[in-house]
Amino acid sequence: MKGNHPNLRAQLDTCITCGLCLPECPTYRLTGDEAASPRGRIAAVAAIEFGSAVVDDRFDEITGFCLQCRACETACPSAVPFGSIIEAARSEVVRSRPRRLRELALTRGLRWGWALRVIRLLAPLISRFVGPLRGMRSGKVFGVSLRGGSWHGAGADSQEVVLFTGCVADQWFPGLHQASVAVLTAAGYSVTAPAEQTCCGALAAHSGFEDGAHRLASLNVEALPGEALIAVDVAGCGAHLKGYGAFGAEGAAFAGRVRDINELVAEAIVSGRLPTLPGRGEAVAVIDPCHLEHGQRVVDPPRAVLRAAGYEVVDADRGGLCCGAAGIYQLDHGETGETLGVRKAAMVDATGATLVAAANAGCEMQLRRFLDDSKVVRHPVEYYAEAIRDGSR
Ligand code: SF4
Ligand code: SF4
Repeated sequence: MKGNHPNLRAQLDTCITCGLCLPECPTYRLTGDEAASPRGRIAAVAAIEFGSAVVDDRFDEITGFCLQCRACETACPSAVPFGSIIEAARSEVVRSRPRRLRELALTRGLRWGWALRVIRLLAPLISRFVGPLRGMRSGKVFGVSLRGGSWHGAGADSQEVVLFTGCVADQWFPGLHQASVAVLTAAGYSVTAPAEQTCCGALAAHSGFEDGAHRLASLNVEALPGEALIAVDVAGCGAHLKGYGAFGAEGAAFAGRVRDINELVAEAIVSGRLPTLPGRGEAVAVIDPCHLEHGQRVVDPPRAVLRAAGYEVVDADRGGLCCGAAGIYQLDHGETGETLGVRKAAMVDATGATLVAAANAGCEMQLRRFLDDSKVVRHPVEYYAEAIRDGSR
């Protein structure tokens, strides 16, 4: 391939074509088609890389249908880095057929807070045409960003932590960031949210805009210097930030500081810096965002956070399929995204719980679309923040 993927051949060679990933792949499960499986996609990428095929509409279709959920990585006995392979493939597609408007939106637009606010303002109108916006939370439209803020932690010897605010979450999920700040400061962390940080670049990378993704990574590495841990409360951003090592030594040092917020809060609960609260007698149905379970291999911490908040934890779909949100997947594959969203909502319904926990903003929006209004969907840390607030009243 023409892009800068020095390890691609070695990565492709790690696939032993065993097929163990196939039953875990949502698109294969839906279609039964080898070309819609991880193994089939790897074969298609290898054909391009080793020169027996060229990038064409079929290659675009095979690689674009992938949700990039990385369930195949968790299932794979040979540690095939599928996420990295599929990003290389999508960048090759973009190189052969540029998508300027989408590139502009994903590499620059997401840095424009005002643009995201306007979309939020118009959400009730445009959600009739753009389904995923139907899952947006209601709330204030302007003046919500926490960027530029700093908060002192409880206790005299507080450790510094940086809050990664992201782009969409910064504008559309301010309550989530406020809950994160409340819980981190209660755990004794002093929190800063530097104003210069920007979009993590995950959506750009997944869409094949690798130069733009690299630019956004460089901006974040520059904006968040030092050695303080970086707390992330959106699993999709966290998985991508933990992969900044692909952008060189500075990126690798940055990636080593990144923690999903559930990891930090669960650690603080175990060490006694945060309390375990009395039972509330309610069940919370937990779903595992792909980019937390497969992208970061973080499964137990959100459950530990919810239990410490006094809830009974019920697994909605342990080891299950992607909910179909998958970044901007639904712009091109709305029907598949909806099929998966309906399935996931049915699994949540089957638990009988009215409270639902999802540690990723995209999954939360997707579940809201397909669950009825009696269900509450929030991040585990929001449940915990509410519990400590109630406990201190
Ligand atoms: S990333 Fe997900 S959709 Fe894509 S091949 Fe792997 S399991 Fe299938
Ligand atoms: S990606 Fe892994 S699990 Fe899937 S066929 Fe290749 S080696 Fe087997």
